[in-house]
Parts: sequence; structure tokens; C-alpha cells
Amino acid sequence: MTTTVYRNATVFIGDGRPAPAQALAVTDGRLVAVGEDRTVAAIAGEGARDVDLGGAFVTPGITESHAHMLMLGEALDKVGLRDCGSVAEVQDRLRSAYARNPQTPRIQGVSWRFDIFAPGQRPTAAMLDAVVDDVPVILDANDLHSAWVNSAALEAMGITDDTPNPVGGEIVRDDEGHATGFLLETAAVQYAWAYAEAVAGETDRDRYLDNAFSAYLRTGVTAATDMAFGPGDLSVFIRRLERDGRLPFPVTAHWMLTATGDRTADLAQVAEVLRAREEIARRWGEKWLSIVGVKFILDGVIDACTAAMRDPYANGEAPGPIWEREFALPIAVACDAEGLQLAMHAIGDEASTIALDMVEACVQVNGPRSSRRPRVEHLEYVADDTIARMAALGVTASMQPVHCDPAILDNWKAQLGEPRSEAGFPWHKFRAAGVPIALGTDAPTAPHESFDNLFIATTARSVLEPARDAYRPERVFSPAEALEALTFGGARATGREHEFGSLQAGHRANLVVWDFDPRCTEPAQLIGADAALTLVDGEVAHRRA
Ligand SMILES: [Zn+2]
Repeated sequence: MTTTVYRNATVFIGDGRPAPAQALAVTDGRLVAVGEDRTVAAIAGEGARDVDLGGAFVTPGITESHAHMLMLGEALDKVGLRDCGSVAEVQDRLRSAYARNPQTPRIQGVSWRFDIFAPGQRPTAAMLDAVVDDVPVILDANDLHSAWVNSAALEAMGITDDTPNPVGGEIVRDDEGHATGFLLETAAVQYAWAYAEAVAGETDRDRYLDNAFSAYLRTGVTAATDMAFGPGDLSVFIRRLERDGRLPFPVTAHWMLTATGDRTADLAQVAEVLRAREEIARRWGEKWLSIVGVKFILDGVIDACTAAMRDPYANGEAPGPIWEREFALPIAVACDAEGLQLAMHAIGDEASTIALDMVEACVQVNGPRSSRRPRVEHLEYVADDTIARMAALGVTASMQPVHCDPAILDNWKAQLGEPRSEAGFPWHKFRAAGVPIALGTDAPTAPHESFDNLFIATTARSVLEPARDAYRPERVFSPAEALEALTFGGARATGREHEFGSLQAGHRANLVVWDFDPRCTEPAQLIGADAALTLVDGEVAHRRA
């Protein structure tokens, strides 16, 4: 068995230890020594392969704590429009995408921004027909709440003057009643995305998964927690496992539960999760894919005034949660009794209160258990008493710095109104209370790049518009704290901290080599930085060209 020694580096060990290390040794996919050059060389012994890292910075692999692997991979397959500043730029982008691939049966785009339209102007099919009129064009808005489509797409989706608006959505129409090419909320879901889903084949979905793995490896991710797993994802992952017997890096998955308003139907979903968990574990063990838990979407988002708040929004709206306690608590207890970890999407302060009630109910009914690892996702506006309860119960705060890029907060602040608009994303309070923290990106709702996420975590400034003022900079993480939450924090959140997440002898050799140490560099250098080398189980999974 060959041992490889990586030396002449600055090694960030990753579980809060300040121990200085310059080298590590890897045998058969595992770390066998981490420490000073001379000590590691002595343990590795004669004949070890020697790699001089030239003073580079080494961290444990990043755990993407809130991933949507297939959705990200699909988004990466689409024409990116986030940086288009005008309708003309969107048209140019589509024209060249079509010219590059003239045989394509359709063109999909993602992340166009509302500010490219003049005041009072809305997206129309005619704007797109002007550049592509013979194949469907479907462009998702950057908030993924609406779609802009051309006339060929309207026809392919079967939308006519007589098609009614779906509940909770709108097919925007002109004065004569003709659809104009703009689909809002459930109309986007039920027409644009249902169509895209229906026409995508197995090879498309396999490619989406490949896209996600390679994009993540480029940015130093060597483990991910998929936060909305379902039957569609399962079949793609199973195909991959049947083909390769492994994944490019380990994925832990939370199965998405749907609030049905019927306890029997809720519980039937738990049975489905258990069947899937058992099938994966029986056929492939837990090394690469493991269904560790379930996901509850307890509320919506602040931008659309659908997050559940204790007090009404600035406009007076006061929506309730998606899961009421009478349904959420019993199903949480049933999942917990089966050893499934609970992940609760809770953006508003009322939703996170319900999330903690769910965890308390589990402890009361099923007793204390150190492997429980419940977690709350997002926590954009949260009450101090909730933070104290999270600390007492050991509930992980899973947060996404890219969601509070100052460039996307204007509407968010307006909906909350003062003083709540100045008290969002209180990372410093979680740290002070001793709440376990895991950082992720929730891509594709936000950019997936790890060091862009690190930039916002450590500066509270904008990646999208660097000239913007920081949002509440007293909240920021030190670079070491943020790196730890991106690596060790994510592994601990799913109970895998003894396997990876810090660089210690015995752990899987999942690590990343970076060009610079973010603890002592100008933060702007973080934006757009990628990994020079990413190792998974000691093997090169990505090397910068
Ligand atoms: Zn998500």
C-alpha cells in the first residue's frame, strides 16, 4: 500500500484545534498522519510518495450542508442569465446558445433579474420570439418563483386563451386574453417546470447529477446534504450507484415530506422513506449515499411574505405555517422514533418556534439521544428565546450566507419593516449561545461557490454588487470560524464528524488545496476562488486545469 505525503503546506485541521500542521500522509484513502513535516515523514516511512505543496493552504473538504444536487445540476445545464443587465443581453445570450447547439429541441435559461425591465414593463414571449421562435424557450427567474417563455413554449405546454389560472398562480395575459409569456408562482411550476420535467430523459437527469458533482468538486466540496430528496432523485442516484458502485463524494439525504393535512397520509410518507433508506443501505451500505432523515417545509420566504412570523409583515399580512403543530408534532415524533434526523425549513420566527416544539416533543416522547442531530434550515429572522432553546437542545443552525448578499435584501427588508429589517441573520447570537452551526448555499436558489459563501460569511458584503454597504457587519464570522462551519460543522450536523470534516489520522482523506489562506488575505480575493486540488478518499477528484 503506497503512502503519499503532502508537505510544505499550511494545514487547517478543522475542529477548532489551533495545532500547527504542515503535512499529512494518506494511505489507502485514509489520513494516517497530520502534523509537522518531520513528524509526518517519520510516520510515513521510507518509500512514501512525496508531494511538495509549495506553501499552499489545505482544509478538510467542504460539506455543502444544504444542497439540491439535481436542481443545481439542471440549473448548470441552462443558459445562465444572472449577469445580464438588459433584455438585449438576454437575447444575445440566447442567440449564441442556439447558434452553438442548433439541434437542441429546446433552450432553458435561469436566473434572469427583474431589474432588466423598464418600470412597468414585464417579460413577454415576443421579446424571446425575436431571437428564437422555432423551439421552446423557458427562462426561470432568479428567485425561481416565475418563468418567462416564448410562443413555441406556450404552445408546447398547451397553454391557450381558455387555460384557467391554477390555484396560487397566474398566466399573465394581455387585454385580448392571450397569454403573454409570463407565468407566475404555481403557473410556472405546473406548466413551465412540469413541461421541462416531462421532456427530460434519463440521460438528461444523469448529466444533471454529473454537473452538480463536478461543480461542487471544483469549489472544494467533498460531501453534501441533499435537502429535498424524493423518488425522482432516488432513481437517478441508484442508476449512478448501479453503474459505478460509488458516488464522486458522499451524500446524505433528507427525504422531503409534504403536508397533507391528514395524519394517515403523513405517516404513509414515513413508510416510504424507511423503504428507501433500507434499500440503499442493504445494496450499498452507507459510505456514499445515506438517507439520514426527513425535511419539513414549515413556512415560505420573507420576500413573498409567506414565511411564518410572530408579528404581521409591514403590509399587514400574517400567513400561518405550512405545517400546523397538530400535524407536525406527531409525524416528527414518528420519524424520530425510527432514527430519522429532522430538518426543518424555518425562515420566520414563528416557524422556528414550531421547529423547536417538534424537537422537544421528540425528546419527551422518545427520550434523549445523542445521535438525534435535529437541524433548522435558514433561520433568517429568529427570536432570541429560540436561539436559547436551540443551544439547550443541541439543534444545529444550518444557514446560508449567500442568502443575505446585501444586493438581494432590499425587498426582504421592506417586507419586514423596521426594526426587524435590521435584525436578520443573527449569526453572532448563535455563536454566543453555543449553537452548533453548519454553513451551506442552498444552490441553485443562490450561487454554489464555497469561497463566495465564505466572503459573505466573513464580511457581510455583497458578491453580486461589491460596492454595496455591508449588512450588519457585527454578525460576521472570523475566517477560521466560517471555515470550521463549512467543514466540520457540516459533518457534525449529520453525525459523520468521526468520518470526515476535520483532518485527523483515521479519517477519510477528503481535503482541498487552495492557493491562499483566507485567514490572512484580502477578502476580495475570495470571490471566484476555486480549489487547486480536491481529494476524495485520497484520490484526485478535481485538479485545476
Ligand atoms: Zn433548499
